[in-house]
Amino acid sequence: MYMFSKSLEERCNRILRDMEGSLTARDRVGIQDFVLLDAYTSESAVLDNLRKRFNENLIYTYIGTLLVSVNPYKELGIYTKKQMDIYMGVNFFELPPHIYALADNVYRTMLTETNNHFILISGESGAGKTEASKKILQFYAVSCPSTKLLDNVRDRLLLSNPVLEAFGNAKTLKNDNSSRFGKYMDIQFDHMGGAVGGHILSYLLEKSRVVHQNHGERSFHIFYQLVEGGEEDLLRWLGLERNCQRYSYLVQGECAKVSSVNDKSDWKTVRKALSVIEFSESNIESLFAIIASVLHLGNVTFVADSQGYATLNNKNYRSTLPFQTLWKIEARSEEVLSPFTVDQAVYAKDALAKAIYGRTFTWLVNELNESLANKDSSRKTVIGLLDIYGFEVFSVNSFEQFCINYCNEKLQQLFIQLTLKSEQEEYEMEGIEWESVPYFNNKIICDLVEEKFKGIISVLDEECLRPGEATDMTFLEKLEEKMGGHAHFVTHKLADQKTRKTLERGDFRLLHYAGEVTYSVVGFLDKNNDLLYRNIKEVMRQSKNAIVKHCFPSTEPDSKKRPETVATQFKSSLVGLTEILMSKEPWYVRCMKPNEGKQPGLFDDVLVRHQVKYLGLMEHLRVRRAGFAYRRRYEIFLQRYKPLCPDTWPNWKGTAAEGVECLVKHLGYKPDEYKMGRTKIFIRHPRTLFATEDAFEVC
Ligand code: ADP
Ligand code: MG
Repeated sequence: MYMFSKSLEERCNRILRDMEGSLTARDRVGIQDFVLLDAYTSESAVLDNLRKRFNENLIYTYIGTLLVSVNPYKELGIYTKKQMDIYMGVNFFELPPHIYALADNVYRTMLTETNNHFILISGESGAGKTEASKKILQFYAVSCPSTKLLDNVRDRLLLSNPVLEAFGNAKTLKNDNSSRFGKYMDIQFDHMGGAVGGHILSYLLEKSRVVHQNHGERSFHIFYQLVEGGEEDLLRWLGLERNCQRYSYLVQGECAKVSSVNDKSDWKTVRKALSVIEFSESNIESLFAIIASVLHLGNVTFVADSQGYATLNNKNYRSTLPFQTLWKIEARSEEVLSPFTVDQAVYAKDALAKAIYGRTFTWLVNELNESLANKDSSRKTVIGLLDIYGFEVFSVNSFEQFCINYCNEKLQQLFIQLTLKSEQEEYEMEGIEWESVPYFNNKIICDLVEEKFKGIISVLDEECLRPGEATDMTFLEKLEEKMGGHAHFVTHKLADQKTRKTLERGDFRLLHYAGEVTYSVVGFLDKNNDLLYRNIKEVMRQSKNAIVKHCFPSTEPDSKKRPETVATQFKSSLVGLTEILMSKEPWYVRCMKPNEGKQPGLFDDVLVRHQVKYLGLMEHLRVRRAGFAYRRRYEIFLQRYKPLCPDTWPNWKGTAAEGVECLVKHLGYKPDEYKMGRTKIFIRHPRTLFATEDAFEVC
């Protein structure tokens, strides 16, 4: 299995050497794999173990090959080059659990089995998903073979992160660096294990944040980075002042400054990254011009003229506008918007700001993909990293949280299908005796949201088809009519009976797998429609800014044909994502939050217990404990290990199953260590396999 591992002796010596002094009794506090110990079957025992380890800064624990991680909210010094070296080419159980161990195992399995893998990183907002995905990428950057060409790819892969984070992350109440878009990144490897390219898919950016932020939150980092860190010349050219307070779009949340974020130095990183990724200077200029024009646009205000129509308020603003682009929108918008009321004009302005930013983000991802693309057509295998916005509950939840939480339901469903469901079905199919482990299947909630003709998204889309008549409130009424009886849907009429908590009139509540969330319907229709006036599009098309021009192509579908709604587009993109993932081998990192206050050293039992519950860790543990850690088709197992047995080597004449039987007898497997299924051998404990693997390496 481990093609690139070192000789057994060399490995043992090295591990012992590295561990001397560094691996202390502290590293062994608690149990590092829940599967291994009989005592760890109850929720309380699992919680105790997590707490004990967390208190010793041991944030990782396994359930078999699944990695549980508890956010320490402090630097632990465990992500050094030395640590990476220690974990390279070492089996799981030989060292304390680590994200590097997982990354390394995925990598080596990919190389020996030449197949594709993905790592699903899940957990609620602020639990450490994005950090985990970065650690994995950094591990590959350091551990993969290096050449001048490969180093170039490596740098681009690494630097795509700060760029995407600048444009797609923001401070929220849950996380100072919260991902406001979903990201799936394929890292492509050649047959020697070199990282030769990458590809990023992005999912539904929360672009409403550009024009509005809740109290205590910010817009996307890049705005503050530009204003705080942008060079004097650049700011002058863009007509910007070095003062975030001056920009209406940046102060909605009243917290332009965040102590944990250094906008100035982040600006430098992003600036450098854009150069390394080889964005042309003219593209970089156009990009910042767009960011600045969004800020300027935010400061445009309207007043009612004598007829009650909107007219530009701050006329003097025009003279300071540096861009032809904006000039045109404004010159034109005055004309276009003149029959509008002030409210409508503001609405159109905000819609434009969101559209420009959203489309620029898509452009950015495409550019990064160009830069990461591997031009060589030879066969490659990939490791996909999925880091998507986590489950989110605020005091007021809107369309954005609805989409984010729906996405988390889908990923939970995938996890259930791939682990609990298919695992148990496989035992059945293979004829292995099995007592099934019950689990909560959240498919019922996914259906409630997405089912054709019946689900919440369908009802929403229907309402969006009735412009002028439908409102957010009629949407809510339809929901109440259609979903009223559903076990996971609560309206204010039924609130008392189902959850004993009352609801406001304009709210509905979903009982998600991860907890209850109350959504306010305000804005659902608008956000789902996401309309942009055609005239505005036309003006944008004429822009001299190359990116804007590109983002508003003249071939864009005409408004006569209804574009897909946001929720429906999102739903389709999640179906696409599921298909991508289902074709690969899964690995899991389950991230947890130790407390709600982003505080180091604080382990909130109630909060963690809740996560242990809804992440399905107990069920996963039960299935793993009762089941078999490892399984391979007879042909593959025999092919690899037949050199270990004189009867099967070099040419085995019988069936593969008989060959494997012969092989394991020769190796002295005890009857309770393995089971023979219809097409596969099942091995209960990884140790059995590791021993075989070690024998293979020395033979
Ligand atoms: P998520 O992506 O799940 O919303 P992040 O990965 O952005 O959460 O983590 C939130 C914050 O928690 C990070 O900005 C960092 O301060 C802290 N954090 C997360 N993981 C770690 C870790 N392994 N070590 C130290 N701090 C971490
Ligand atoms: Mg994140």
